[in-house]
Amino acid sequence: MTERIVRFLAEHSPETPCLVVDLDVIAHAYEALRWHLPLARIYYAVKANPAAEIVAMLERKGANFDVASRGEIELCLNCGISPDRLSFGNTIKKERDIAFAYEAGVRLFAFDSIHELEKLGRAAPGAHVFCRILVTCGGAEWPLSRKFGCAPNMALDLLRKARDLGLDPYGVSFHVGSQQTDVGQWDGAVGAAAQMFWALAEADINLRMVNIGGGFPAHYCRDVPGIDRYAQAVMAAITRHFGNDLPEIIIEPGRSLVGDAGVIQSEVVLISEKGGVDGRRWVYLDVGKFNGLAETMDESIKYRLVTPDRGGSSGPVILAGPTCDSADILYERTEYRLPLGLRVGDKIEILSAGAYTASYASVGFNGFSPIRTYCI
Ligand SMILES: *Cc1c(COP(=O)(O)O)cnc(C)c1O
Repeated sequence: MTERIVRFLAEHSPETPCLVVDLDVIAHAYEALRWHLPLARIYYAVKANPAAEIVAMLERKGANFDVASRGEIELCLNCGISPDRLSFGNTIKKERDIAFAYEAGVRLFAFDSIHELEKLGRAAPGAHVFCRILVTCGGAEWPLSRKFGCAPNMALDLLRKARDLGLDPYGVSFHVGSQQTDVGQWDGAVGAAAQMFWALAEADINLRMVNIGGGFPAHYCRDVPGIDRYAQAVMAAITRHFGNDLPEIIIEPGRSLVGDAGVIQSEVVLISEKGGVDGRRWVYLDVGKFNGLAETMDESIKYRLVTPDRGGSSGPVILAGPTCDSADILYERTEYRLPLGLRVGDKIEILSAGAYTASYASVGFNGFSPIRTYCI
């Protein structure tokens, strides 16, 4: 937790649950990424945290933006971002939303299927298009496999077809999975992209861009390599497979830019023992799966917690949210230990909660409001 967040919580005692985001941490993460990957153009994946203050700050720092919907495009345009800094990176778009983006001036679009390509041909003539390929996502704590991308061989056909449809076949993209803990995962994907460059060059199609997606991590319970190690692995893969003929490089970070910048403060609503054989206490917080912690689904993302120091020892707990849905359990298989002296009304901070929390909250399931964000 940064000094600024600690001070904000102490001075304002905001109602919980709330997410406090330190914009300076995001600014530093952005600068570190630029430092370590100077050849890459950065497109912030807006879905990770679409708070207008974050988008506006990254705009001032010169970032570009990966957007997935008409709503995200409007958000960026309303922040004064020029449409040539937007990439419509969702491979699943309504044709009328493509037309809206094109009319607004967006000229960069993703696709991974023939029907999407045909929509682009009709609604975004002449635009730069890139094809997303399937990659395995091994090592990712939040995989993005299967749903997106097509086999590289199909991608070759589609990129040829793109030219026939009056589009500009610009490059290849992939996403090795979010919270990717294995820095080796980019190598195979970059290699597949490079082979597509060579194969299409024979058909006189000159791809220019490789979009290496997101996947760089935030800091949860499990240790992860530093951003420098990821950057080195990515650049090593690109030079290994492309030699001296380096393509334009796009990176679409979400989690690694905003994750560590946010802290959720929550309150203990209830501590109960159920008298069964298990013996673990149940600790219920005022934040759960439906108002901010959706990524605890399948206990995928394991947040670090800060509890009041009650001296004494700690014991194992099952952590759950406040709603009347038994799916609203945060951690049951994963061992979390909290102080035995923990009391109802205590505050618990959830660290590195800046990404995929506020934007994942339901509109008000069970009458619990979506979590409020304070950007400081
Ligand atoms: C979600 C998403 C990202 C961001 O991924 P992170 O792992 O959060 O960095 C990047 N690109 C695309 C296309 C995405 O859907």
